[in-house]
Parts: sequence; C-alpha cells; structure tokens
Amino acid sequence: MDHFADSAAIFAAQKAAAPSRRLSFGLAARRTALARLADALDHFRPDLLAALAADLGKPEAEALIWEFLPLQGEISHARRHLGRWMRPRRAATSLTMLGTGARIRPEPRGVSLIIGPWNFPMMLTLGPLVSALAAGNAAILKPSELTPATSSVVARMLRETFPADLVAVAEGGPEVATRLLELPFDHIFFTGGATVGRIVMQAASRHLTPVILELGGKSPVIVGPGADIAAAARHLVWGKFTNAGQTCVAPDHIFVHRSIEAALTTAMTAEIARAFGATPEAIAASPDYARVVNDRHHARLKALLEEAQAQGAQIATGGQSDAARRYLAPTLLKDTTDDMRISQEEIFGPILPVIAYDDLEAVIDRINAGPKPLALYVFERAQAFADRIIAATSSGTVGVNLNVVQFAHPNLPFGGVGASGMGAAHGYQGFRAFSHFRPVLRNHFSALPLLFPPYGRSTACLTRVLGWLTR
Ligand code: NAD
Repeated sequence: MDHFADSAAIFAAQKAAAPSRRLSFGLAARRTALARLADALDHFRPDLLAALAADLGKPEAEALIWEFLPLQGEISHARRHLGRWMRPRRAATSLTMLGTGARIRPEPRGVSLIIGPWNFPMMLTLGPLVSALAAGNAAILKPSELTPATSSVVARMLRETFPADLVAVAEGGPEVATRLLELPFDHIFFTGGATVGRIVMQAASRHLTPVILELGGKSPVIVGPGADIAAAARHLVWGKFTNAGQTCVAPDHIFVHRSIEAALTTAMTAEIARAFGATPEAIAASPDYARVVNDRHHARLKALLEEAQAQGAQIATGGQSDAARRYLAPTLLKDTTDDMRISQEEIFGPILPVIAYDDLEAVIDRINAGPKPLALYVFERAQAFADRIIAATSSGTVGVNLNVVQFAHPNLPFGGVGASGMGAAHGYQGFRAFSHFRPVLRNHFSALPLLFPPYGRSTACLTRVLGWLTR
C-alpha cells in the first residue's frame, strides 16, 4: 500500500470498525493476535534476517539479539500479563464520595499511527504494535523509507497476518508520513529524531491527538576513578559498536577520570581487536560489524570526524572508512572540545569521543547545561559515586556498570525526558501508552441530593462538615 488514498481508506475502515472492536477484541482475541504475530515472526525470520542484512549489513547474531529477542520477549510478556493489565481496578472511596463505587477501566484509544526509525527497523515498529494490540487498538505502521528491504518484508508479513482494518502498513517517506498525519488518529507513537518529532507533535495538535515521542540525543558515559576498567571497556565497546553505533541508547561520548584515561583507551582498543579483528583489514572484513545505513549518513559521519580532526581532535583507534561499502571503523577519538560539531550533535555512528575529566562536579554541570539525554551511564565500583550523579542529573534512563540493555528490561519503562522524548514504552508502560484509563463512578446510596438546590440551612451545615472532613 503506497498511495495516500489507500491509507485514508484503511484508516476509515479501522475507525469504522472501532465500535465493534471494543466489544469483540477482548482478552482472548488480543492474546490470539499477539500469538499470530509471534508465529509470523518465526515464519518470516529468514526473510527478515536477509532484509536487515541488506539494509544495514546487520550481522545475524545482532539481529537476533536486538530485533527478534526483545520483540519475542515483548509479545510473551504481554500475553502472560494481559489479563491482569486489562482488569478494571477499584478506586478507594473517599468520605465525600460515600455511597458510590469507583472503577478505572483501561480502554483502547482507538486507531493508532506508529512511525518508526531505520536503526532497528523491525523492533521499533513492531514493538509498539505489540503494545497497541495488547491495549486493543487498530494501527497503521509507517516504517522508515531508509530501510526499504525490511519495510517491505514487514508490510508483507503484516498483510498476510492481520486484516487491514486491524493492522496495516503504509510504506514510504516523509511525504507519506505527512499525509498520514493529516488524519485524525486517536494516538501517535513516533520514534525518531527531535526535528521530525517536533513536526509530528505540531501535526498532532491539529486533531488534539496524544503523542508518545521516542527521541534520541547525546547520551553521556561517566567512568569514575574506581571503575573496573576491563569490564567497562567490554560493555562500552559492545554497547557503542553494535549496529555500528546507530543505536538511540548507545553511549555518545565518555567522560573518564584523568587517572585512568590511558588505561581505559588501551582496554577499549584491545576489546575492539578482540571483538572485531586485530588489524584494520580484519575489522573491515568482520562479519560481526554492521554498516552505516546509507551514503548520506556515511558522509555525515566522515565530515564530523574530519572536522573534529581539523580542529585538533586525535584518533586513538580506528578512523578508517570506505564510502563504497558504507564502512566506518570503530573509532575512539580524544582531545575533542566543546566547540566542535561532534560535541554538539548526536553522533549516531561508530565514533566515540573519550574526554578526560578532573572534577566530577564540572562534568555534572556540563551534562545539566545540555538537553536531557535519553540515557546516562556510570561505570564505577563505589555505589555512592553513581548515586551522586543520578541524584544531580536528569535523563530518560540510567545504566550503572552496563549500557544499552536497560532498553530491553520488560518491567522498566523506556522513554526520554525533555528533549529526548515524552511518554514511556514497553511492557505494562506500553499498554498504558495505548490505553485510556476511563473512570466509571456509580451511585449506590450517595447523599449527593442533600447538596442540590434550593440551598438552605442543611446545605450550609453539610458544606461545613464536608469542609472539615476534607481539610
Ligand atoms: P527521523 O526522525 O529522520 O525519521 C523517523 C521517521 O519519521 C521515519 O519513518 C521517517 O520517514 C519519518 N519522517 C521523516 N520526515 C518526516 C516528516 N517531515 N513528517 C513526518 N514523518 C517524517 O529519525 P531516524 O533518522 O529514522 O532515526 C534516528 C533518530 O531516532 C536518532 O535521533 C535516534 O536517537 C532516534 N531514535 C530513538 C529511539 C528511541 O527509542 N528513543 C530509537 C531509535 C532511534
């Protein structure tokens, strides 16, 4: 489906089916829908793996660890807990509400639009779909046009798995997204950059459509003087260079205590050699290292690197690139300064500035002076060190002595704050995002009529008593 007329017709069909969906798309039907999605993922696994390799050179192991496993986990977690999540909750009665019964019913918002990015093109479009279906919604997905192979397989898979009045895919780029945003969706779940996030939020305001924005930013790492250097190096090299650094929660840059700067750089260099190859040629040939998504992003990263070098930054490791293969080596950069573009823009690629610090408070001030990041990481043995940083800063998520995996914890909300986004996803939080919590208040034997006009002495008396009681 690639014409707007089709999207508009499907949107109308999804809207028209909403009343019957409220009645028929209950626990059993939602669990079945989620099971069908899980089966489809099994069935289409070879096609999806091939598409991810074609789009991003994504190694199979990385695709399984980062796309399939989180998604399967999300589906089975939702299926297991859905009954509890869907149950209406009783709300306690207050003194003034004596004689009434209060319940909160989670209800589907209706028809959702899910706009996905290219970096994890499968998980970041289908993950929100799991939450949308769990909460009883219909959805139209708009995957990224920059990963066309994956977008095409996802579209085919969903077409063969669900009726279009429940789940549909609109393929294409900004022009398709722009037209979709003209429709009065009940909910929009957007994952991508802040620039487009602003456009989405503005478009949503026309219909007062609520939005979840999963954005990015510059996620800092602080490595304290008491860190386990070898362990930090292992985690950081994995977290940064998976998907060639094109991960929203990947470390953007490292602040390391000056006393261990050299040791950490040496340990990370050794870890890069262990993970991907001992020579630049071996790394370039490694089947375990992904590619930059397209020529434009390759040129952007190369320019960031070259500009930084021209302004005095030094390559500690890596730096090799091959535009024809969209290859950029895992690169550690030192001596960057605040005025460089690489210190200001989200890097979103395999370049990792390592910045020595002397004064932790100055690092905290620097983090607080910028937009709130999506993730913040601390590597240090002393717990008080991490606690101090956590207390003094704000970020979407935090990892201590690990990185990136906080994204995949089924019982943790995932999302940004401030410039890194709004609203949370995953597990119950994802269910919440796609639900309206509808209060229902029933009258059993309420004394409310005593407050009705004509107002007399008894009204004044009761108002006074209620005034005391609610004080
Ligand atoms: P992007 O904002 O360029 O694109 C995201 C989606 O928006 C795509 O589907 C694209 O087609 C669509 N789009 C583009 N222009 C549009 C327009 N004018 N109107 C409506 N939609 C439009 O983001 P990207 O380059 O695909 O992804 C990279 C960014 O996403 C990074 O900033 C990264 O940090 C962020 N990200 C965040 C998360 C998260 O979960 N918080 C996850 C992955 C990526």
